[in-house]
Amino acid sequence: MTHILHRQIHAPLPVAAGGSGIELFDTEGRAYIDASGGAAVSCLGHGHPDVIEALRRQAETLAYAHTSFFTSEPAERLADRLIASAPEGISHAYFVSGGSEANEAAIKMARQYFVEKGQPQRRNIIARRQSYHGNTLGTLAAGGNEWRRAPFAPLLIGTHHISPCYAYRHREEGESDAAYGQRAAQELEDKILELGPDTVMAFMAEPVVGATAGAVPAVEGYFRRIREICDRHGVLLILDEVMCGMGRTGTMFACEQDGVRPDIVTIAKGLGGGYQPIGAALLSRDIFDAFAEGSGLFQHGHTYICHPMACAAALAVQEVIARDGLLRNVREVGAHLRERLEARFGNHAHIGDIRGRGMFLGLELVTDRSTKATFEPDAKLHARVKKEAMARGLMVYPAGGTVDGVRGDHILIAPPFILGRPAAEAIVERLGEALDAAVAQVRPA
Ligand code: PMP
Repeated sequence: MTHILHRQIHAPLPVAAGGSGIELFDTEGRAYIDASGGAAVSCLGHGHPDVIEALRRQAETLAYAHTSFFTSEPAERLADRLIASAPEGISHAYFVSGGSEANEAAIKMARQYFVEKGQPQRRNIIARRQSYHGNTLGTLAAGGNEWRRAPFAPLLIGTHHISPCYAYRHREEGESDAAYGQRAAQELEDKILELGPDTVMAFMAEPVVGATAGAVPAVEGYFRRIREICDRHGVLLILDEVMCGMGRTGTMFACEQDGVRPDIVTIAKGLGGGYQPIGAALLSRDIFDAFAEGSGLFQHGHTYICHPMACAAALAVQEVIARDGLLRNVREVGAHLRERLEARFGNHAHIGDIRGRGMFLGLELVTDRSTKATFEPDAKLHARVKKEAMARGLMVYPAGGTVDGVRGDHILIAPPFILGRPAAEAIVERLGEALDAAVAQVRPA
């Protein structure tokens, strides 16, 4: 009998006992290929000796120092490193303990920016349906995941949502990507005009949508148009790269591939690779200057911001990724994995779409490829695939979200960047078996 309130009260979990490379082991001695990095977290895999050594050294030197008294060397070095590779205009980092905290900080930065600038009437956030920005009340309000929001709706601040950029379902017959991207982005301008441009503070979006949609990138041109619209109306652009950032898509920041510059970009999962809880909101020089010239502080804070152990772990993870040239592996083995997925599932009766970038790939499950009809939500197909995959020693992340009343089943694949080709083959093989077994339970042949 467990005394932990687990996510699923009635579904006992295996006990994780250890990990090495791309595998996790349970106390029964079973091995699992971590093809989702947990939830796109374990970018370096498990038990990396260099990260363990960095953690040991940091624990011996300095485990904790409160930020109202001190800064610390690992935090300073990590910030220098991140800013050196951040999108143009980003000048400072604010370290927290995870993705929700990073997005919560980002929202408060946007608000304080406009207060400092003498525009306190700017308080509206616009985000997209089919998005997840975190589980704290502010970030849950910003996100558009209906299932996660529903029980808490009366407690959530008012936010406004537009459609995601979701070509598989929303691009019309015969419409080009370019035309669709402009149409989808136009919804932002329409919403800003509806609310009144001088009341809107920020638009928030994941460049590649993760947990609610299984790795959906925007079409070419969408984010460039979003940037133009934000600039025209003085609205800040917050990009949530908590899941898709830190090399997951093959470039350090996913937004590099969209040719877009954010005012704030948040990162978390791959930053520390799971070795410590850490996230960050990276902000522009313009926002920093507004704080510096205004009240002289960002009016926020948590006990564990800039935690030296967390920063040391993240620094070690990022140094290994750079030293070992792992982003190249993300691109090359990621492309191989995608090819294998396409070979195995390209004509599969129940896979409607295969998508993503780098080692951030998604499959969308459908009852019928031509109608794109979804499985009954109550069948919880994505959860069944996860269970069948676990039974075959494979971890994949089940994603599901409702957009405009359509509840989808998606599978997210986000393996460690050290993945090799043979393991990529094993992932596809086990996933194929798991998927067929799960579908057979829902609609027996
Ligand atoms: N934003 C995105 C895009 C995420 O995928 C997640 C986590 N799934 C979060 C925010 C929240 O991060 P955390 O769980 O670390 O609070």
